Amino acid sequence: MSSEVLYRKWRPRSLAEVAGQEMVVRTLTNAIAGDKVAHAYLFSGPRGTGKTTTGRLLAMAVNCSQLRDGQPCAACDSCQAYLAGRALDLIELDAASNRGIDEIRSLREKANFAPAGGVDAYKVYLVDEVHMLTEPAFNALLKTLEEPPPHVIFVLATTEAHKVPATVISRCQRFDFRRIPLEAAVGRLKFIAGEEGIECSEDALKQIARVATGSLRDAINLLEQLVDSYGNKLADDQVREGLGLVVDARSVTLAAHALKGELAEGLAVISEVRDDGLDLRQFQRQVVAQMRGLLLAKAGAELSESWSEEQIAEMRALVAEIGTDRIVSTLRAFGEADLRADPLSPLPLELALAGSILAAEAPASSGCGSASSSASATTAPEPAGGQTGGGHGGFRPTSKEIRTGC
Ligand SMILES: [Zn+2]
Repeated sequence: MSSEVLYRKWRPRSLAEVAGQEMVVRTLTNAIAGDKVAHAYLFSGPRGTGKTTTGRLLAMAVNCSQLRDGQPCAACDSCQAYLAGRALDLIELDAASNRGIDEIRSLREKANFAPAGGVDAYKVYLVDEVHMLTEPAFNALLKTLEEPPPHVIFVLATTEAHKVPATVISRCQRFDFRRIPLEAAVGRLKFIAGEEGIECSEDALKQIARVATGSLRDAINLLEQLVDSYGNKLADDQVREGLGLVVDARSVTLAAHALKGELAEGLAVISEVRDDGLDLRQFQRQVVAQMRGLLLAKAGAELSESWSEEQIAEMRALVAEIGTDRIVSTLRAFGEADLRADPLSPLPLELALAGSILAAEAPASSGCGSASSSASATTAPEPAGGQTGGGHGGFRPTSKEIRTGC
């Protein structure tokens, strides 16, 4: 669990600093500058995309005494109170833990008192995860939204807008927060890394942002965890390792052997991986991921940034001479290999390899050596598992031997 030190420290201090939500920020800033702030807002969108941060900044802006172009000054007494988290006119309620009508009633009663900051001040109620409220609580909230007390603004934030009653939504100005685009997340990470003296390449920051899938909070927390593990100088391979992105090159090799029908070479790769004591389930996932990439390459589909351009060229060359049906059946064989019973046994992977090669090479009418029958662990020969020293464990028949055996 991350302590979120960096995330808290580098929360945006103005709306302009909110990353990746330009539309929302522009509309809100214009409304603040034009004194046309709504009574109620619904901020919907995935977690970590800046909903509560924007709500707090909105509260700070409407109470700033030196507002400039809709941006809070971050210097006046009021702004200082907001930045220090001690503003009296910002009331936050987490609906995930305060779901009932009593909380909303007490919130309504308080809303009728004038803001602490004086006649020009606004009270802002920030209700996070608002979709968690009970039905009576929603009804009570709706009454307040229908007759909003002056100088009160409601900001309702939710990751699941479809669970908020339409009657509530219709009373709010709605903003949809999108996942933070990669460039915006990388830009923010770069800024924080620079301020914190963290050395990290742009490529590595991209990897972090990609793993965080559009949540800036997750991205910043990942950066913090990496620094906790490896220190302030982050090498690319450390970042990949820390993010769990290290792919064993042998998964790529095995996928190629399987598609080319190179049984002996493929079995040797599996034995080697087993002898190294690697987690075979993780290895299996990597082989399947590679095989899926090969299927995409064969189909001419766009390949994600998981592969370099050089790798993509190699993958396209490999699949050029191989039929789609063969790629699909091989992908299926490796995907279905079940290592749950004994994660240390290479047998399911060996059978997936042998079975897929047999199925692809056997004439369709021969009626033997289908992928499903040869992949069944109960009818297969026992591998020479547990061998120590020299050479590869496991059985290593050539494809010819298997064919004559059926
Ligand atoms: Zn101010």
